[in-house]
Amino acid sequence: MSGIILLLTQALIYFGVMATLFRLRHAMGLGAFLCALGVMHFLETYLAAVFFIQLPFGLLSPGSTVLFSGKLAIILMFYIREDAEAVRQPIYGLLIGNFLMVALVLTLRLYGAPVSLPGYNPDLVLIDEMGALMIWGTSLLFIDAIAIILLYEKLHTLLPRSVVLRAGVSLALILTFDQVGFFIGLHYIAGTPWDALAGGWIAKMGAALVYSALMGLYLSVLERDTAETAPLPLSDIFHKLTYRRKYEELLGTSGRDALTGALTRERFDSVGLAMLGRAVAMRRPLTLALVDVDHFKSINDRYGHIAGDEVLTRIVECLRAEMRAEDRIFRYGGEEFVVLCENMPHPAAIAYAERLRASVQRTLSVEFAAAPTVSIGLATYPDDAASMRDLIAHADRHLYEAKRLGRDRVVGNVG
Ligand code: GH3
Ligand code: MG
Ligand code: MG
Repeated sequence: MSGIILLLTQALIYFGVMATLFRLRHAMGLGAFLCALGVMHFLETYLAAVFFIQLPFGLLSPGSTVLFSGKLAIILMFYIREDAEAVRQPIYGLLIGNFLMVALVLTLRLYGAPVSLPGYNPDLVLIDEMGALMIWGTSLLFIDAIAIILLYEKLHTLLPRSVVLRAGVSLALILTFDQVGFFIGLHYIAGTPWDALAGGWIAKMGAALVYSALMGLYLSVLERDTAETAPLPLSDIFHKLTYRRKYEELLGTSGRDALTGALTRERFDSVGLAMLGRAVAMRRPLTLALVDVDHFKSINDRYGHIAGDEVLTRIVECLRAEMRAEDRIFRYGGEEFVVLCENMPHPAAIAYAERLRASVQRTLSVEFAAAPTVSIGLATYPDDAASMRDLIAHADRHLYEAKRLGRDRVVGNVG
């Protein structure tokens, strides 16, 4: 069989089986697909070290090209159909599994010379070479897999229409990067001749072409049902791929007040400081609004604590409805709330707080006989204070002033 036909046959079989397993993920679960992906990696490393295929024009390709390119293509397809959180599972599984394999091989070597039986001669050189190549290849694959996803997303602006073209270009570029990187390792670890560099690259470019065509076929015939979602910022994808979740995300729904759903006082201490830190670093204003319910004690006394609790819950819902998506609300004390607004200068904050106040007054006067209202005191970094403590103190003075002036009002810096 000629080299090209061999590689093409391998690509078709590999993609066919992997795509079928992937397609069946909803029926079988992803386990079968992921295991198959991992198992192929073993053959690939073996082939990379010992098996070369003759291509036309005297070119030589390592026998692993098709499997390796296929794996990247499949990882990319996995990402396209699922998301960063799903695809990082095989990326880390392959990384850790391969390192584990190398560690186990190293411990085997501690055993010394294995028992020799007629007809069984373990090739220790191969095992050693595989260990080193495995570490090199595995680390590169890890970088490749993350890079191809980021590149694919980055190309969104250049090639917004064609998923296949984007996938093909990403594959070709990352495989080129990988070929150079891996070949340096192959040459110094396994002594692979430089001739195979060009041959391997051409084989990988051919693979990029074939796999992106197959991927296009698969995506348009078998999984055309869902429209593409709007692209996420690259940093979000990167953070997902590398398990670097945002602190707020990590804490999830814990850290929320059970009654109102506002963030807790503890979260104010951490998230608030982080927001202030960002404001300092980016030289942007940060506004703190201290919201206190007016005559809340008498609402409790007249209508009972249950009604009082309902008032608190509704007030937070009202405030939330008026807040911008990036603002945060904390339950600072019993019936006191802090709203933090990044990148909001003081004059804008006065209008904003006025909308919050008016919304509470308007909504709750309809819903509750007590017609609860709120008073709001404002402070803005950097004009009013440089620390969170001083911002609170400044806002508190304004809140006190609002109460003194008759409640149901906003007080900020005048003029
Ligand atoms: P002012 O207009 O001056 O703010 O008057 P106020 O009555 O709101 O003053 P104060 O801050 O002294 O009263 C707050 C009351 O809020 C006291 C407390 O019993 C009540 N409270 C605190 N937390 C809760 C809660 O979770 N549920 C209920 N129902 N009441 C609470
Ligand atoms: Mg109070
Ligand atoms: Mg109060």
